[in-house]
Amino acid sequence: MVSRIIPVETFDLVVFGGTGDLARRKILPALFKRYCSGQMPEGSQVIGAARSALSETEYRVSVAEALREFAGEAAHDAAAVSGFCDHLHYVAVDARGEVGWADLAALLNEGSVRAFYFSVGPGVYSDLAKGLKRHGLTEADTRIVVEKPFGHDLETAQKLNQELAQYFDESQIYRIDHYLGKETVQNLMAVRFGNMLFEPLWNAQYIDHIQITVAESVGVAGRGEYYERSGAMRDMVQNHLMQLLCLIAMEPPSQFEPDAVRDEKLKVIRALDTVAPHHIVRGQYTAADGVDSYREDVDNPRSKTESFVALKCQVNNWRWAGTPFYLRTGKRLSERDSEITVMFKDTPHSIFGDEAGRHRNELNIQLQPNEGITLKVTIKEPGPGGMRLVDVPLDMSFAEALGPKGQSAADAYERLIMDVIRGNQTLFMRDDEVEAAWAWTDPIIRGWEARGDVPKPYDAFSFGPDDAALMMRRDGRNWRGLGK
Ligand code: NAD
Repeated sequence: MVSRIIPVETFDLVVFGGTGDLARRKILPALFKRYCSGQMPEGSQVIGAARSALSETEYRVSVAEALREFAGEAAHDAAAVSGFCDHLHYVAVDARGEVGWADLAALLNEGSVRAFYFSVGPGVYSDLAKGLKRHGLTEADTRIVVEKPFGHDLETAQKLNQELAQYFDESQIYRIDHYLGKETVQNLMAVRFGNMLFEPLWNAQYIDHIQITVAESVGVAGRGEYYERSGAMRDMVQNHLMQLLCLIAMEPPSQFEPDAVRDEKLKVIRALDTVAPHHIVRGQYTAADGVDSYREDVDNPRSKTESFVALKCQVNNWRWAGTPFYLRTGKRLSERDSEITVMFKDTPHSIFGDEAGRHRNELNIQLQPNEGITLKVTIKEPGPGGMRLVDVPLDMSFAEALGPKGQSAADAYERLIMDVIRGNQTLFMRDDEVEAAWAWTDPIIRGWEARGDVPKPYDAFSFGPDDAALMMRRDGRNWRGLGK
């Protein structure tokens, strides 16, 4: 299979925070890979902008280092790295001051698609938006890309939306959630809406429940200060898990078009029930296997911030009435594992008898560490010995099925940045979506604060607190094992 490059127009992409961690680990490597794939038209520029006083040469040297560290094998090609660096520029700009704006304006090309990536702390977003307008750097179709976290709660998200709306139209604002750029997440939509097979079964009549897990084995060391103010609910559930839930639960949009898709996602968030306290488990990791506890990682011996959340929620509409959604995310869990599993119901009657075994169909959508979709179906165990049933996977592992050997599917950031250049907002969150997600999350967090809730301890590298497993068992169900 030959990969297909859809050409984009010549662009100027300004990365504010171009010396920061996210730019070095994700954004610049993604742009480099697009360059290597031939998707950076002649005349396009990537302009790093940050506060440090760096020369262009110093910036290029530091980006080349970052590529060697984070861009994989492609960065072993010195000519490719140097070719990409020829497109790179650097300007020292202080978003909150007057320095550097004129230099930045002088670099921008007339007629190129113009995009500004806000890879800076959220406290700087409004200043940047204002600075861009005030210094005349924007055009009618200029785009801005805004990183997470988008607000700390509903009130701050609304305020940020209002501030950005003073300077940019909603059609120019790209709120990024890199989970939506994953190949498998898009494939989930292809599987759901491109096949006759699944959609008739995609409802409470045939689906017992759905599990969404985003498990990480890393802790919060290095990001402790941010995480301590955020916690798993704000950092993961409000955005990434909510977006995955939307794509699983939404009605078919009339077209694969930005507002049609986002309208349907919004309806899902608005249909979510209020989660009762006994349907939610918070956890915090303790020291084990040679790693520090959460409290040590954030240097706060009395921290009540959760590094784990498991919850049961319900989408209150005709399609899903009676089918619970179980969401689980945490740090320092036994495996890194992000997946969605759709658990179908038992057959209404087993004609083979109990000795044959009871089996269920499961559709597993794996996002991390490997991407792929597996459908578990039941067949007869081969050979003599009577009728015994076994599960076998129908496997759509993308690494093997959907790409030339050695060429990985485009990283989420590659796809999303190119969508910004194309002006396609389908995979970006709209203002009302973000606000609706906060409106659902806020009462849960406020409830914890009001009750002085203390998260349940769990050992680092375990499956999380026992209460999470208990919550499932009370419903006669089990979490899927991590890394299975
Ligand atoms: P960082 O602290 O490593 O880098 C911040 C960058 O912003 C630096 O280049 C700094 O010079 C620049 N900056 C700060 N204040 C500025 C100002 N007034 N004017 C101009 N430039 C200024 O941060 P990071 O980890 O790269 O994160 C950037 C953004 O991305 C944050 O909003 C963060 O929440 C978000 N994010 C980061 C990650 C990650 O893995 N690092 C993941 C998801 C989201």
